[in-house]
Amino acid sequence: MLQDHGSPANPGVQLDPDVFYACQRCTACCKWPGDVRLEPHEVTRIAGFLDLTEDEFVARHTRLRSDRQGLSLIEKANHECIMLAGAACRIHPVKPGQCAGFPNRWNFPGWREVCAAIPVPNAV
Ligand code: SF4
Ligand code: SF4
Repeated sequence: MLQDHGSPANPGVQLDPDVFYACQRCTACCKWPGDVRLEPHEVTRIAGFLDLTEDEFVARHTRLRSDRQGLSLIEKANHECIMLAGAACRIHPVKPGQCAGFPNRWNFPGWREVCAAIPVPNAV
């Protein structure tokens, strides 16, 4: 069974204030099973970016989160996010905070084994 790699609410967060992890755009985190959380303001922003009404965006591209407390982007049958097109995110300029925040603002135990981000020292 595929592992759900958690969410920003994951209690196992381990942050290192001295290191920034530079994303290598391997897209692994766009292919993990589980929720891609959407906050209400993100629904508005992403719908506008896609030139859809909010109702159209919600109907076509979202589902209830596993905790039923909000919306998630739909995942394809292979667990890729519905917004992943090849190696690119269709909504990169307005992607959800969950995507923008990983792995520097949230992560989970063992995340470095499944993410290609490279550590670089934070500027002082
Ligand atoms: S898994 Fe890590 S390196 Fe790969 S796209 Fe996601 S954040 Fe970037
Ligand atoms: S919204 Fe974009 S960055 Fe976030 S999981 Fe989907 S494809 Fe990846």
